[in-house]
Amino acid sequence: MADPAPTTIKVVCRFRPLNSSELARGDQYIPKFKGEDCVLMAGKPYYFDRVFQSNTTQVQFYNAVAQQIVKDVLEGYNGTIFAYGQTSSGKTHTMEGKLHDEDMMGIIPRIVQDIFNYIYSMDENLEFHIKVSYFEIYLDKIRDLLDVTKTNLSVHEDKNRVPFVKGCTERFVCSPQEVMDAIDEGKNNRSVAVTNMNEHSSRSHSIFLINIKQENTQTEQKLTGKLYLVDLAGSEKVGKTGAEGTVLDEAKMINKSLSSLGIVISALAEGSSYIPYRDSKMTRILQDSLGGNCRTTMVICCSPSAYNDAETKTTLQFGQRAKTIKNNVSLNVELTAEQWKSKWEKEKEKNKTLKNTVTWLETELNRWRGGESVPVDEQFDKEKAKAEVQALDTATNNDKTAPTPALSTLPGVKLTDAEKGKCEAEMAKLYKQLDDKDEEINQQSQLVEKLNEQMLDQEELLASSRRDHDTLQKELNRLLAENEASKEEVKEVLQALEELAVNYDQKSQEVEIKSQEFEALSEELNEKSSSLASIDSELQKLKEMTIHQKKRFTEMMSSLLKDLAEIGIAVGSNDIKQQESTGLIDEEFTVARLYISKMKSEVKTMVKRSKLLESSKAENTQKMEETESELTACQLRISQYEAKIKSLTDCLQNVEQKKRQLEENVDCLNEEIVRIRAQEKVNTMEKENEIQSANEVKDAVEKQIQSHREAHQRQIGNLRDELDTKEKLITELQDLNQKVMLEQERLRVEHEKLKAADQDKSRQILDLTALQDRQEQARQDLKGLEETVARELQTLHNLRRLFVQDLSSRVKKNAQMDEESEVSAAQKRKISFLENNLEQLTKVHKQLVRDNADLRCEIPKMEKRLRATAERVKALETALKEAKENAARDRKQYQQEMERIKDANKPKNMGRRASAVIAKPIRPGQLPGAPINFSVNRSNLIENNQPAGIKGGGNNRLEKNRSCLMITQL
Ligand code: ADP
Ligand code: MG
Repeated sequence: MADPAPTTIKVVCRFRPLNSSELARGDQYIPKFKGEDCVLMAGKPYYFDRVFQSNTTQVQFYNAVAQQIVKDVLEGYNGTIFAYGQTSSGKTHTMEGKLHDEDMMGIIPRIVQDIFNYIYSMDENLEFHIKVSYFEIYLDKIRDLLDVTKTNLSVHEDKNRVPFVKGCTERFVCSPQEVMDAIDEGKNNRSVAVTNMNEHSSRSHSIFLINIKQENTQTEQKLTGKLYLVDLAGSEKVGKTGAEGTVLDEAKMINKSLSSLGIVISALAEGSSYIPYRDSKMTRILQDSLGGNCRTTMVICCSPSAYNDAETKTTLQFGQRAKTIKNNVSLNVELTAEQWKSKWEKEKEKNKTLKNTVTWLETELNRWRGGESVPVDEQFDKEKAKAEVQALDTATNNDKTAPTPALSTLPGVKLTDAEKGKCEAEMAKLYKQLDDKDEEINQQSQLVEKLNEQMLDQEELLASSRRDHDTLQKELNRLLAENEASKEEVKEVLQALEELAVNYDQKSQEVEIKSQEFEALSEELNEKSSSLASIDSELQKLKEMTIHQKKRFTEMMSSLLKDLAEIGIAVGSNDIKQQESTGLIDEEFTVARLYISKMKSEVKTMVKRSKLLESSKAENTQKMEETESELTACQLRISQYEAKIKSLTDCLQNVEQKKRQLEENVDCLNEEIVRIRAQEKVNTMEKENEIQSANEVKDAVEKQIQSHREAHQRQIGNLRDELDTKEKLITELQDLNQKVMLEQERLRVEHEKLKAADQDKSRQILDLTALQDRQEQARQDLKGLEETVARELQTLHNLRRLFVQDLSSRVKKNAQMDEESEVSAAQKRKISFLENNLEQLTKVHKQLVRDNADLRCEIPKMEKRLRATAERVKALETALKEAKENAARDRKQYQQEMERIKDANKPKNMGRRASAVIAKPIRPGQLPGAPINFSVNRSNLIENNQPAGIKGGGNNRLEKNRSCLMITQL
């Protein structure tokens, strides 16, 4: 390393313009500027290296403040730019600005651009390795913004005792775009992890580190430069902005890093021997930037508003304090072998001179001890030796170790050199241990965080799977229910089918019965029609007979009359002619007359008798009707009488009972009389002296009793009379009632009779109509049948004729042949056989015709049945079809449901599988806790670095977690 050169920290001050809310509030713009390096606040001047007014553009600020630092870093120096100030004073605006806006971009993007531009303009023999890191410090925890899994990194010291963030992602970059991508990624990660970005950014420090290593390929000279670009947390006390929701400890922690920065700066400004860098991680990281080997620039950002007056003042004071800090800047050179060799030579030389000094001093000491006084010119020359050593020292490029607090400078400690050395070694060891412990703690906390995340993921997974399970269970239940329902439906359908089948059977049975009935009826009809026909024929016969008889009768009468007339004529004409035969004729005549008169009288008597009989018959029927009505009346009366008798017997019984009661009453009274009499007797026996008076009394009593008895008897008579009349009345009423009831009964019976008759009639009508219908139908059927039979018979006749003709022709032929040749017996047999056959065939044919006729009769019935059956079958088929359709629909629904469930399950599984596939490649450059020691040239760099880029995947937090999960699952 080059020799350290002392420089002070450069502090510049930048005022932002009044913002919109301040303007709206009408805040006063308070700073006054004096020259380029002074600002007056309330008349008090504050001096800085530069003061930038509100109208300073980003380019102007960059050119004035940060441009130089790019050169420094590329020349092998360390550099740091801080932005300090209260929240919304313009720190982020200054450091980052609008990252992708040409005019509004801040220092960082411009530096990035410039670094590359500068590199492109440099010597061709130089090879650059650039890597960037991006992290933030919140609550004294370092969080890697390029790898969100690293949430609590520790700070270690390298071999030169320079602190660095161990395990922090270092991304190799080879273009400004890549750096900007890294910044974008980091900013994105930062905003994703927190809920309130504004609050978070105002309480955390964000640090962007650019590490540039260059090597001259010719001279092998190596230079390194680190550039820290720090956007500090708001400098205001957390209390002022109101840290709502933050616990007191948290607020303390938030303030701690900044206050320790203040303390470190104060200590450095005061030139204190002990600087408490280790108080916070931020001061630890920036140890080199504050009082170390670094060219540091601090930007003091201020608000010009009167409202922020106090805060602005403390900020300005802080800047003034920081201005006094001195850094020892040296070039970070790695020596080449040649340089190391010469250095070693020089060291050897130095060692030699020192040894010489030691021997000189020893000899001098021995001489002094031996009591010899050493002359001045022989004494050890301190100044000369020092000069010699210094000469050697300047020739040697000594390694400058980081300024660690020297123990000898610690207040109140006085130690010997040996003790000091020991102590320092001890301290170094302890620091090492401390760092190790830090590392361990960091690892543990990272592990804990990782496990926590895993646990959260697992919980999420569990919850989701539970939800899935629930939904699936629900679905299953639903499906089961549906299944049950469809089963039931199927059952119902089957039942319905069964019912239908049963119905069908019933109907077919009914049809059979009906057909049987129909057959019976048709038979009956046939019978009836035949009987009708026979009756008709009889009637006809009778008519004929009557006509015949009438004819005969008229003929007889006419012949008789003719005879009579002839006789009369004969009598008249032959009176004179046949005088002699008159006696015979007279005799005959008289006989005839007698016969006639006899016949007449007989006829008359017959007529009379018949009339008589008719009249008597009419009378009889009349009489019968009368007697019938009389009979019913008599019956009625009889029943009335019976009822009367019954009521009378009831009455009799009642009267008997009453009589008995009255007799009992009379007996009771008699007994009382006897009792009273006995008492009277006793009284007379006791009182003989008073007989006179007693007799009188007795008479009176007897009289009284007599009168009592009479009254009693009268009363009884009255009561009896009353009873009789009442009874009579009752019986009358009962009779009347009975009569009415009987009449009613009769009427009811008659009504029923009439009803039955009516029903009978209507039934008869129905039967008759049905019969008529059937008759009609049967007639039609018969007609058809007759026709067909006739046709059949005709054809049969024709056939037969043909057959007979054929046969006769054959027979003739045979006969002719017979005539020619001798008739063989075999042929005769054949003929007879054929004739037999013919006969049988005709028989069979007849039989068949008969069967055919029968079958034809059956046809309509069968057709009807068939039609009914077909209808039934059709109905059943439709029912079956419906059932099938229903079942198919159900099945379809079920399948769809199943598919849906499957689909619902599929994406989840696929998602899990996909993440596992993506997550598999794990790059060595991104393993947590492994320090990266890439030494690649630029071309390699591009190749090696490419997969670690943003687009390489696997940086997504969720995916990573999933990969972890998958791995653990596997
Ligand atoms: P801090 O980071 O200190 O909290 P910001 O940098 O976020 O504050 O600035 C707050 C607001 O003020 C931002 O909107 C920013 O654009 C604006 N601002 C800050 N400084 C300037 C400036 N010099 N010129 C114009 N606007 C500025
Ligand atoms: Mg900010």
